[in-house]
Amino acid sequence: MSETLLFERIALIGIGLIGSSIAHGARAKGLAREVVGTARSEETRKVALEHGVVDAVYESAAEAATGADLVILCVPVGAMGNVAKEIAGSLKPGTIVTDVGSVKAKVVEVVAPQMPEGVHFVAGHPIAGTEQSGPLAGFAELFEGRWCILTPTDETDVAATEKLKSFWEALGSDVEVMDPAHHDLVLAITSHVPHLIAYNIVGTAADLEEVTRSEVVKYSAGGFRDFTRIAASDPTMWRDVFLNNKDAVLEMLGRFVEDLTALQRAIRWDDGDALFNLFTRTREIRRGIVEAGQETAEADFGRHHGAKDETQD
Ligand code: NAP
Repeated sequence: MSETLLFERIALIGIGLIGSSIAHGARAKGLAREVVGTARSEETRKVALEHGVVDAVYESAAEAATGADLVILCVPVGAMGNVAKEIAGSLKPGTIVTDVGSVKAKVVEVVAPQMPEGVHFVAGHPIAGTEQSGPLAGFAELFEGRWCILTPTDETDVAATEKLKSFWEALGSDVEVMDPAHHDLVLAITSHVPHLIAYNIVGTAADLEEVTRSEVVKYSAGGFRDFTRIAASDPTMWRDVFLNNKDAVLEMLGRFVEDLTALQRAIRWDDGDALFNLFTRTREIRRGIVEAGQETAEADFGRHHGAKDETQD
């Protein structure tokens, strides 16, 4: 076992994209003596075991959490409360419980009160993912070079937060600590609203009558297909994100709609300067993201083009 051993037994409640990526990363880096897990369906449990994602699977969350010194809730945000209730009676004193949910205030609200005395809950959110889901979607490198936000509250044990920080750093992440409500506001504009826009534009295209579905697919390289990647994200996860981060999403959506109306006006009144100035500012933001190492500098997301070059409009 490596010298980075941080936990004896990690229990993953939920073995989808994020759970399986944590399993691969923790096992590859020797962060725990064993990594066990559970999933809601027998199928996922079977697949996770057969493919060696975890060392052992259990039928219930309570069984998986028994004896663990780190429990990570990797289920959709809407399921966090029930799962916390289910494991509460099996947790031993000193255990750190965390989660990976994309919304933080609501998760803290439903999970923290259920934790028994001596168990430390530290909410978290790795800002890393793909549009894939399930136990075979994960990979050890998912968190490398990505941020992980921890959102402890005034009641959270400081040593537990520090230990969890070391865990995410060992998985390759940079860790930032933030207030849960602030996390939700930041993520509303950087992740939640962009997903809503993608779901909406792909839905609108699917409903068009004047432009056929086959034309939408055929000419999708014009920009549309980049939205379809995001709009292919897991429906359950994203339903739960919007229902549990309502206030922040609605606030950011209000701002977005206002700015969209301004763009509508600029187009209607031939205000080329307004359009040009905005597009210049946004190009700078893209440059900043590339410079921060959060995106490839390669054109077209690094897609390789064959002899028949695809054009972007
Ligand atoms: P996923 O691949 O769909 O896996 C979800 C896991 O949760 C599966 O093992 C599933 O079991 C289990 N599950 C689903 N509904 C459940 C319920 N009602 N009760 C108990 N277990 C349930 O999802 P994921 O992408 O790993 O997302 C997990 C969490 O990570 C979510 O809270 C999400 O917000 C957060 N997150 C996701 C991303 C991303 O890009 N995907 C990024 C950062 C954080 P079965 O397989 O048996 O159905």
